[in-house]
Amino acid sequence: MIREYSMENRGKEIKIVGILGGGQLARMTATAAYKLGLQIAILDPAPDSPAQQVTELKVVGPLNDISMIRKVASLSDILTLENEFVDASLLREVESDGVLIYPRADTLGLVQDKLLQKQLLDSNGIRVPRFMAVSEKEDVYKAGETLGWPLVLKARRNGYDGRGNALINGPSSVEDVWRRFEQTRIPLMVEEFVEFKKELAVMVARSSNGEVAVYPVVETIQKNHICHMVKAPAEISPESLENAKEIARKTIEVIDGVGIFGIEMFFLNDERILINELAPRPHNSGHYTIEACVTSQFENHVRAILGLPLGSTSMVLPTAVMVNLLGTRSGPVNIKGLRDALKIPGVSVHIYGKKTTRPGRKMGHVTVLANSIEEALDKATRAAKLISF
Ligand code: ADP
Repeated sequence: MIREYSMENRGKEIKIVGILGGGQLARMTATAAYKLGLQIAILDPAPDSPAQQVTELKVVGPLNDISMIRKVASLSDILTLENEFVDASLLREVESDGVLIYPRADTLGLVQDKLLQKQLLDSNGIRVPRFMAVSEKEDVYKAGETLGWPLVLKARRNGYDGRGNALINGPSSVEDVWRRFEQTRIPLMVEEFVEFKKELAVMVARSSNGEVAVYPVVETIQKNHICHMVKAPAEISPESLENAKEIARKTIEVIDGVGIFGIEMFFLNDERILINELAPRPHNSGHYTIEACVTSQFENHVRAILGLPLGSTSMVLPTAVMVNLLGTRSGPVNIKGLRDALKIPGVSVHIYGKKTTRPGRKMGHVTVLANSIEEALDKATRAAKLISF
């Protein structure tokens, strides 16, 4: 019976998708996979992680441990990831065991290092902020002379929600910031501080047989470096919307990406677009697609890695707003306000099932579709204010 539900990729029958990481991205990917009749296996250190809660097939252990990756691979027909922090060299080894992994280890190796990522984009004519590698403190002073102040110092790897970044206003603050970052022993880079008008993001999926699907361009609004709100579509000129989509399409080809990718961009006053960074996975800026698009980012990710036809990325109503629900205190979760939020017509609430909360932790999100961005914004912000953890 199960055979009826199986899919194929490169002649391999796919029934179980293994995901490295068990957070909300894996949980929402699981939901999309279940829709297509697949099963999910999860590797995550926390036995009660959001995605471990929704499957029987779980491996509890660290992500950067090859024996654990092999264990979840043995339960699965294909592997994918929900974050970019798994060492690409481990994935290369597992690939050479014959395991199908998408995005491929080589793509991940490029994307998980912000310097390699930017060098590759730059050498392919895709605009990025001006950047330089820095290996010692003196390099930062030199970079300031070349690129101008302020500079943004970035850890080349393992940054998220701005944790690996620091603003250096001028030569007098180099010493302080350098001392803090030096201890992490993670290689560093610097880039010019970009005075952007808006931040944009585009989700783009590319299947293992080369088909590409580009989602609408959205505006992302961050608070304390964490995505706070997404407005779809972004309110920029039709030419700029087209330009952003074209950049996303070109980028996924350049990195030979398979799966869904989030392309974060800076939109400048003169309408130029620079890529800030790439995420080789479903992305917070694409959560609105669950309700707002014919095919969600999660479903197109599953379709892409299985080599199935990609679904339409069209929006079902003209506008959508997504607001993140973040923790505001530390401790066990105690959800309040859900009933009142759900009373607002058209509000979709997603709660990730995390057992504990802490300030800034992504606990869920709210999406509203509407005919006008004002209406979507009003309802989504009202609903988000009502819910607490
Ligand atoms: P992370 O990898 O931790 O998500 P990013 O490099 O995407 O970090 O940066 C997080 C946020 O910091 C961006 O969304 C943007 O608001 C700001 N930022 C990053 N790089 C620059 C830059 N070069 N100039 C101006 N702001 C920046």
